[in-house]
Amino acid sequence: MTGDVELDQLRRCVELAEEALRAGDEPFGSVLVASDGRRLAEDRNRVVTGGDPTLHPEFALARWAATNLRPAQRSAATVFTSGEHCPMCAAAHGWVGLGRIVCASSAAQLADWLGEFGAPESPVRALPITRVVPELVVEGPFDELADEVRELHRRAVNGRG
Ligand code: ZN
Repeated sequence: MTGDVELDQLRRCVELAEEALRAGDEPFGSVLVASDGRRLAEDRNRVVTGGDPTLHPEFALARWAATNLRPAQRSAATVFTSGEHCPMCAAAHGWVGLGRIVCASSAAQLADWLGEFGAPESPVRALPITRVVPELVVEGPFDELADEVRELHRRAVNGRG
């Protein structure tokens, strides 16, 4: 179980997800945290406003880490995220050699929610991160945040109401 400090990092991810939704993008947000707890970088989904379906925050953070951190800093860092990485982002995380991932919600939850809301089927299969990067430590989902994340996705699918 993660502590209060880590729950705060996840809450920041949910805030970023809401910011993305308000901007017209999909509700996902992520932060990259150093081993000493310092927040190094954060991003949100930008697939609509950026005009590029690969502009996921987890992918952006992996690239930021590749540019700005040494390998030892990457493996000691943690990525917090509002929703479990998609296979593309999990692969980028694995290639760059980042450390632990903490997810507010899981890919399985998202698939269930999107089905429930009648969203169109994703062109990319939802997989647990560890199916893509088997040795990675992944924590989550967290019940404390599930309702809030679910509501953001409901708004995204149902015309943002
Ligand atoms: Zn992704």
